[in-house]
Amino acid sequence: ASPSDRIAALLTSFPDCPEPGVVFRDLAGVYAEPGLLAQLAGHVTRHLGAGFDRILAVESRGFVLGSALAVLAGVPLTLARKPGKLPGPVYEAAYDLEYGSDRLELQKGAIAPGERVLCVDDVLATGGTLSAAAALVEAGGAEVAGLAVVVALAGLGGRERLSGHPLLALHEVT
Ligand code: 5GP
Repeated sequence: ASPSDRIAALLTSFPDCPEPGVVFRDLAGVYAEPGLLAQLAGHVTRHLGAGFDRILAVESRGFVLGSALAVLAGVPLTLARKPGKLPGPVYEAAYDLEYGSDRLELQKGAIAPGERVLCVDDVLATGGTLSAAAALVEAGGAEVAGLAVVVALAGLGGRERLSGHPLLALHEVT
């Protein structure tokens, strides 16, 4: 089966989670499926070839596919973290949430200027998180080679918001 079909069969939905009107898509079954993470990482690397020099994985669920990709592609892995977790000087990028805002941070010097960086997360919803990750890459003088997610949720504006960068979604929920 294709990566998309396998993900579709394993995704579960939790209505009104974490608040009324929101459907939370749970990827626990995707990660628990033996061999699937390797297939997903293989699919991404076949699509992107040698098109990236580094992975930037978004805390915390982006660490899963990000790690698998870094192992398979043999490229360095860097972690974009929630505020206050990283030691030393950091770049910061804020992004809007439904209520309020949040921030991602990247250690200064972690990404070399000119590198082509693939930003990785589990789910794309409104695109705020990945646009902050992309801004961190650019703050470091590097280039966003692309964005990769396990699941993209349609209808929330994420693709439109990130239209400046190539996006690879292993499965789309419409
Ligand atoms: P965005 O910033 O694109 O609106 O939301 C994406 C971020 O929120 C990702 O880091 C993702 O982990 C989390 N997220 C938003 N909606 C969902 C969801 O339905 N399921 C999961 N697993 N994560 C979600």
